[in-house]
Amino acid sequence: MPYSYEAPVSQTLFDRASLVTPGGVNSPVRAFRAVGGTPRFMVSGTGPYLTDADGREYVDLVCSWGPMILGHSHPEVIAAVQEAVARGTSFGTPGEGEVALAEEIVARIEPVEQVRLVSSGTEATMSAIRLARGFTGRAKVVKFAGCYHGHVDALLAAAGSGVATFGLPDTPGVTGAQAGDTIVLPYNDLEAVRAAFAAHPGEIACVITEASPGNMGVVPPLDGFNAGLKELCAEGGALYISDEVMTGFRTSRAGWFGIDGVRPDLMTFGKVMGGGFPAAAFGGRADVMAHLAPVGPVYQAGTLSGNPIATAAGLAQLRLLDDAAYAKVDAVSAEIRSLVSEAFTEEGVAHTVSAASNMFSVFFTDQPVRNYEDAKKQEAFRFTAFFHSMLSQGVYLPPSAFESWFVSTAHDTQAVERIAAALPAAARAASEATA
Ligand SMILES: *Cc1c(COP(=O)(O)O)cnc(C)c1O
Repeated sequence: MPYSYEAPVSQTLFDRASLVTPGGVNSPVRAFRAVGGTPRFMVSGTGPYLTDADGREYVDLVCSWGPMILGHSHPEVIAAVQEAVARGTSFGTPGEGEVALAEEIVARIEPVEQVRLVSSGTEATMSAIRLARGFTGRAKVVKFAGCYHGHVDALLAAAGSGVATFGLPDTPGVTGAQAGDTIVLPYNDLEAVRAAFAAHPGEIACVITEASPGNMGVVPPLDGFNAGLKELCAEGGALYISDEVMTGFRTSRAGWFGIDGVRPDLMTFGKVMGGGFPAAAFGGRADVMAHLAPVGPVYQAGTLSGNPIATAAGLAQLRLLDDAAYAKVDAVSAEIRSLVSEAFTEEGVAHTVSAASNMFSVFFTDQPVRNYEDAKKQEAFRFTAFFHSMLSQGVYLPPSAFESWFVSTAHDTQAVERIAAALPAAARAASEATA
């Protein structure tokens, strides 16, 4: 079926949705506000493809924002889900699946001695912060501008993509008391961290950072940045929390830790570990985790935590993610990155393809992007034109210039060829775009 830009069924669904749900969506970036147009309502996914309600197929470069690293409807993941669901959906008791998933995480990620399962990345970071405060008896939290850690009240300050996309400098509903203990610093700036520790001796509970940020576009840590954070935390008596909700089990078998080897005190996970279901986790040093209820005094709980379907899906997915799988995702990512760069070069579009392992994004600038300030200087209007051209040609990109693109083991030659075929016209559209 030839691609057409009209999406009448999606539009009808969006109209219905907008009556009963704010903005018609359950997570803001899905509404296409940054790029305009009708969000595509998807009905199914197979391998690297999504099919929308109008029956059009897209090569998917969002992969549910990271989780679908094996592609959609992987037969072994689906089989594990079907097998689990046939036994019941939730018991509110411990079960073997959650033990197996925790063991898999502990086995893969050396600094994680103990782990607690939760249902979203937001819950994971919220709980890790609470634990860090409970453990240290301190209040202040350091985060970096452009890093997103879910919509935790205390962390919704300078929080990257969603906020970048919507131009909300702040969010109403977060009180001064909730955000007042949050210190926001520029990313990749160790001097700023050193100065914060000097200004607040004995007050900083933790530094939380994306292991390698993907929520302001992909902006990897400079050499030595994470190691420097770890050192400053150790000197200052604070915990170093590495948020691997996006990078965990994606950038390598052991996530970003597997790449830079810097040992966090606490880590958070989500996305890939849930296999497309709501499963997330936080974990780390056993002596710190021992402060959690029911062993310790820091309360944390969840009705659906360790849900048997979610843990079955996550475990099935992780077990399929061997070295060969990561090699495949890395290779297809490299191939798409070079195709994208060639297309922009051909059209004379200033750009930087920024990568962290197999995560990548395009910045419409030829200047280095090391932090959120740099990222915001890009010509984001070019992304809008590029995005719509790709969409009309059947390639589904994240609908914002400040998001990572994601690929999977299912992105095969045919999918890459479809992307390659769409790129010249899209790069031309980017070059012709005006602010
Ligand atoms: C997605 C994300 C979160 C939030 O996870 P949710 O499951 O959406 O709550 C937290 N941290 C990072 C780095 C993320 O990418």
